[in-house]
Amino acid sequence: MNFAVQVPEVVAVPVAGTGTFFPVRRIYCVGRNYLEHIREMKEADERDPPFFFQKPRDALVLNGQLVPYPPQTNDFQFEVELVVAIGKSGRAISKEKALDHIFGYAVGFDMTRRDRQRESGKNGLPWEIGKSFDACAPCGNLRTVADVGHIDHGRIAVSVNGQVKQDSLIEKMIWNVPEIVSNLSHLYDLVEGDLIYSGTPAGVAPVLTGDILRGTVDGLIDLEITIGTRT
Ligand code: MN
Repeated sequence: MNFAVQVPEVVAVPVAGTGTFFPVRRIYCVGRNYLEHIREMKEADERDPPFFFQKPRDALVLNGQLVPYPPQTNDFQFEVELVVAIGKSGRAISKEKALDHIFGYAVGFDMTRRDRQRESGKNGLPWEIGKSFDACAPCGNLRTVADVGHIDHGRIAVSVNGQVKQDSLIEKMIWNVPEIVSNLSHLYDLVEGDLIYSGTPAGVAPVLTGDILRGTVDGLIDLEITIGTRT
């Protein structure tokens, strides 16, 4: 096949201990999945169901890389999240079968232009510019289910320059991982290569150029990124 322009690069996450890479097809994110975060945002009824949005796959940033401070914001924030990697395709998957579709897990950051997100919400506009932009989806190296099992409890935290900012527990998710996979699979066909960022606990805050973020989830490999200069 002759391509008219440069073919986009394959986007892939290293799979720890295997020498292989997980090729990314789509990146889904869950909004509102920890009660304290809904409360700190003061933006939703606490009984609202979760909802989903997407980030472009080429927004993926790997462990150790720079995240340039994006344009068009003065309130660039982190959200540490458990990332679920889909290893087996499916549609309308039941909660009971959901775990069979998971390849592995990683630590991720849902980087957000918070000022733009709030502005969109207030004006009833899509979240696109607040949530979906270049380098907005750092993802740490994956651990496979065969290696680490399923992540359904334990600490989830992020520190900025060594100071803890978000510190919570995976079991505090409003919708757990099987429920998220099942719910999402009723809206979209899930395909191997899909990543799902499963929502963030309380403690989100702005970052500045030069800040070093380290995300942790018990059982997984830390994710560390540095905020680069403004673009
Ligand atoms: Mn999020």
